[in-house]
Amino acid sequence: MDIIEIIKQYAQRYSQLFPREHFYTAIGLAVALVVLLLIPDNDKGAAVPNQSIAIPVELSSATEEEATTAFNLSDFVVEEEEPVTEFVDEIVWQNIKVQSGDSISTIFQKVGLSDQDMFQLLNSSDEAKILDRIYPGYQLDFKIPEQGELEQLRILKSPLEGILFTRGDNGYQAEAILKEAQLRQSFKVGTIADSLFMAGQQEQIPAVHIMEMANIFGGVIDFILDPRQGDQFSILYEEKYLDGEFIGTGEILATQYVNQGTTYTAVRYIDEEGEVGYYSPEGESMRKAFLRNPLDVFRISSNFNPRRRHPILNTIRAHKGTDYAAPTGTPVRATSDGRVTWAARNGSFGNLIVLKHSGGFETKYAHLSRYAVKKGERVRQGQVIGYVGATGGATGPHLHYEFLMGGTHQNPRTIHDKLPKAKSIDSAEMDSFRSRTAGLLEQFSNLNNSLYLTINQPSAD
Ligand SMILES: [Zn+2]
Repeated sequence: MDIIEIIKQYAQRYSQLFPREHFYTAIGLAVALVVLLLIPDNDKGAAVPNQSIAIPVELSSATEEEATTAFNLSDFVVEEEEPVTEFVDEIVWQNIKVQSGDSISTIFQKVGLSDQDMFQLLNSSDEAKILDRIYPGYQLDFKIPEQGELEQLRILKSPLEGILFTRGDNGYQAEAILKEAQLRQSFKVGTIADSLFMAGQQEQIPAVHIMEMANIFGGVIDFILDPRQGDQFSILYEEKYLDGEFIGTGEILATQYVNQGTTYTAVRYIDEEGEVGYYSPEGESMRKAFLRNPLDVFRISSNFNPRRRHPILNTIRAHKGTDYAAPTGTPVRATSDGRVTWAARNGSFGNLIVLKHSGGFETKYAHLSRYAVKKGERVRQGQVIGYVGATGGATGPHLHYEFLMGGTHQNPRTIHDKLPKAKSIDSAEMDSFRSRTAGLLEQFSNLNNSLYLTINQPSAD
């Protein structure tokens, strides 16, 4: 599970619990808390940056377990403090949701078990070592038919995954619990009045899906400069349920964005090599050689002021670059795979990063407050390479972005039409692509059509 997935799931969970203004702060705080709780002492100083905006990036070494923790930490808001006791067939189960600050020893005490009981279980198998790695959000269900006698312990890392320990003649036997979520589809539409994120919020589309949609179309739409009032978008996505209960969001199956009259449609497809991607209905990959903009749109929105029309002011000046006004500390992304050829101060550019890409392309990122990469490093598209600042000749915090082809400056806003065609589905695979996406695309098209019919229907009076 990668960091984006963590943030996504986390953001999604939080978006249901908090008003927007609180929710980004809460993400930052909670992730920082997880970092504090889990990292070894010698890393503490390094892993807690000054600005919450940068925290998710610093977490790139997070493990799957930490991910689970981050995912579940939000639960503390709604959980009761005392263990909930259920009676099932006259057998007492005690269900405990691990809280921040709990230790396995205190939890055992709570349910009336001793340290000896704990060690007996802990030493019974390798699987039982999970007791040493209990994180907030884990669910622990104790079956104790007679006081002080643990018969079963069920540890759930998530609603879908865990381990069941059952007492036998020789200690405890461990059994993996793996459940499969039921998937349901959800279709949402939005119209841009203020910003993409406001539109998403208005339609109660999970922030995670808005962000994901912006990523999917990141090679064809600059979500900072391109959106216009009246743009429409739609998303068909999956939701995960377990025993009828919503447990999380799933994948986007298809999405459409109508930008200034131009319709972009993307459908999810797993190719013959097992790679997941999004493609136009004609089989052209949505992943392009370059991203349309170098800023993380999602992070920018965290500083979005709803009283202001647009989070980002921009001017395309005669000085051979695009300026993106953004708060200091906003992550800056490499727009394409490449190598860092410069990461140092450079006159009026201030702190400057230059990337060299294949095909004779170069990109420059100026006025940074700090760097996330070093000279000589290889970077991947979308990777955070630095943070917005106001160093050098900048009058205020912004990113100055340049795009060069064969050493000549290009307008980053128009160069994309001249770039090599994106990779498409291999002709040998087109039949398979068509047959496997046809049903989904038809369904998506019908949903979109019904939407437009509704919207464009002449009113009765
Ligand atoms: Zn500039």
